[in-house]
Amino acid sequence: MDVKAIRGFNDVLPDEIGKWQYVEKAAREVFEGFGFSEIRIPILEPTELFSRGIGEATDIVEKEMYTFTDRSGNSLTLRPEATASMARAYLEHQLYTFDPVAKLYCIGPMFRYERPQKGRYRQFYQIDAEVFGVENPMVDAEVIVMLIHFLNRVGLEKLELQINSLGDRSCRPRYREELKKFLTSKSFQLCEDCQRRLQTNPLRIFDCKVETCQAAIADAPKVSDFICSECQKHFDKVKEYLEMAGLTYILNPRMVRGLDYYTRTAFEVVSYQLGSQNAVTGGGRYDNLFQEIGGLDIPGIGFAIGMERLVSLLPKEKEFVLRPDLFVAALGEGPFKEAYRIINQLRLAGVRAELDYESKSLKSQMRRADKLKARYALILGEEELKKGKAVLRNMATKFQEEIPMANLLETLKDRIQQNP
Ligand code: ATP
Ligand code: MG
Repeated sequence: MDVKAIRGFNDVLPDEIGKWQYVEKAAREVFEGFGFSEIRIPILEPTELFSRGIGEATDIVEKEMYTFTDRSGNSLTLRPEATASMARAYLEHQLYTFDPVAKLYCIGPMFRYERPQKGRYRQFYQIDAEVFGVENPMVDAEVIVMLIHFLNRVGLEKLELQINSLGDRSCRPRYREELKKFLTSKSFQLCEDCQRRLQTNPLRIFDCKVETCQAAIADAPKVSDFICSECQKHFDKVKEYLEMAGLTYILNPRMVRGLDYYTRTAFEVVSYQLGSQNAVTGGGRYDNLFQEIGGLDIPGIGFAIGMERLVSLLPKEKEFVLRPDLFVAALGEGPFKEAYRIINQLRLAGVRAELDYESKSLKSQMRRADKLKARYALILGEEELKKGKAVLRNMATKFQEEIPMANLLETLKDRIQQNP
């Protein structure tokens, strides 16, 4: 076959899907426990939403968006992130008239035209959670506590929570100017991209992975030395609430995050198991986003977790494949029909039952039962069936017993309960 998936777009195959479902289920449970509701938003949005919301001078808008013109000449973009769309939905449907505070989450694919490599794809999934309408630093801590709780719950270890405050509209411009002045004196060291960033968005240079750029910013002024007393007070409260919740964090004055809309609290969780694409999740407060997209002055805070990176970190020893509870092996035509009747009955009763669609030798049917990792096999032979009996085999211990067919369901449930 010569039609292949687009570069950077992945299939998630059945042997992997168990991990995805496990993570998604845990996210729903944890987030809903913290009072968040799911929202589903379109994958395609007017380009303007992102260029205004995320900011023209960000990497995403400058070079990573999948933007095209539709048949009516409208410029559309495959969403590169979910926050702007969630904010749009909140405004468009005036969710604030019901309650100014909205706690929302969303799970789905995002699209960015980046150089595909391990942990970096052009279609990737995010789990996103956002709180709109609260300025109180308590909610910054709440969101971070929920995030760490979720990551621990799915079994992630060796994580480091990094936090910073980016200031706001009143103090960041001054920092930006200082940073620009400092980096202009080192501009000969900067890569071509950062030369441009120096003019359009100097904070972005912190994110550059080029070594000479990293060296250039090593002694750059820190945003923490410039934030105003209001921002400082807010940040101190965030730290206090994190400590009250028993979380340890590292202050990282160089973490600036890649999107323009962030203000005040910014955070990332990095894993030391991931190598160079080590950020599992990032987030922060964005008190200007709503105004940028033409809305009211509404504060927000949230995070996005990269699914692929998270899934790659799940504990290796955990089982994620869906296993049949029972594989029914039938020998001969009568038993084959009986097998069909039984699996239908069992499936309706919630037992995951499988059979072979071709009646083959017992050996080959048992091979298949093994391959599917069935917990039990039920062997149906002509003779036993006449006596209303069959053989139940525990596939792990190989223990076999003859059981009456009349109470198959009870026997099976009992055995599964004993050997989960
Ligand atoms: P990075 O610095 O790795 O480019 P980012 O700052 O662009 O990340 P965000 O926009 O904050 O990332 O997205 C949150 C999370 O989504 C990241 O921490 C990462 O786990 C994941 N992510 C971002 N871009 C990609 C991608 N191209 N492929 C896979 N996962 C991604
Ligand atoms: Mg990026």
